[in-house]
Amino acid sequence: MKTILLNNGIEMPILGFGVYQVTDLDECEKSVSQALETGYRLIDTAAAYKNETAVGKAIQKSSVARDNIFVTTKLWIQDAGYNRTKKAFEKSLVNLGLDYLDLYLIHQPFGDVYGAWRAMEELYREGRIRAIGVSNFAPDRLMDLMVHHEVKPAVNQIETHPFCQQIDAHEFLKKHQVQMESWGPFAEGKHDIFKNEVLTSIAKKHHKSVAQVILRWLIQRDVMLIPKSVHKERMVENFSVFDFDLEVEDMATIAALDTKQSCFFDHRDPEMVAWLGSRTL
Ligand code: NAP
Repeated sequence: MKTILLNNGIEMPILGFGVYQVTDLDECEKSVSQALETGYRLIDTAAAYKNETAVGKAIQKSSVARDNIFVTTKLWIQDAGYNRTKKAFEKSLVNLGLDYLDLYLIHQPFGDVYGAWRAMEELYREGRIRAIGVSNFAPDRLMDLMVHHEVKPAVNQIETHPFCQQIDAHEFLKKHQVQMESWGPFAEGKHDIFKNEVLTSIAKKHHKSVAQVILRWLIQRDVMLIPKSVHKERMVENFSVFDFDLEVEDMATIAALDTKQSCFFDHRDPEMVAWLGSRTL
């Protein structure tokens, strides 16, 4: 598995497995077990997904050693703030049945993210988290966090797929040595992505599926990715992306699909900020 070296020297698999919206805990445990069997070594969950316990059970039951699995979870908005973050971290660890975390992310750039970051910096220095980062932070929010703190975020996990390619954000992140990680690599299937004509013709040329072309395109951009599937055959398909290369013209063709817009919502929309802020776990 190709790995990415984070800005603190920690190695992280470039391809992992996400469990957003896998709310049935038995299904989540089964999916993570199957993902580990398939070869995935990066699992991405969040307190807000309410499935950390199922992820933890799958990890405990797996024959893969704990230190060969890279576990990410995320802090929800209501728990931002110094004291609340410390408590939320302990709760996530208990839920996961782990004694350290590989990556802890601030899930959304809202609420007391300053207090949250100070708590996370301490936990990181104490060795309880191997790397700390953020999610859904636009460049200005990330800069604000960076200039006022000592530990630089290692990762920013943001919506990234062929219809929302995040070219400018990626340039900014590269310049500041913050690793970009894609969420929603398939745009959760929106706009019939799996039947997109442009992607289908590239897939046919390489004897691969549209899903594999999308994942390969992200890997060739050095973007980390965490596709989700509850189907074993798709887990295998999504993992089989290291045996072909997209050509320069394929990359250019996919670049033309960018709408530079989210397929979900705008993190700058005040109504959405209010709605997210009112969502408690
Ligand atoms: P996604 O990975 O873009 O898409 C998942 C959808 O694609 C599911 O409906 C899945 O169906 C389907 N699918 C997967 N592989 C396929 C294949 N090979 N062929 C056809 N369909 C396929 O969406 P996502 O779950 O939102 O994003 C991935 C991960 O990113 C999440 O699980 C989560 O860990 C993370 N995430 C983070 C944030 C954030 O705010 N930080 C937000 C969203 C997501 P089946 O499951 O039925 O196979």
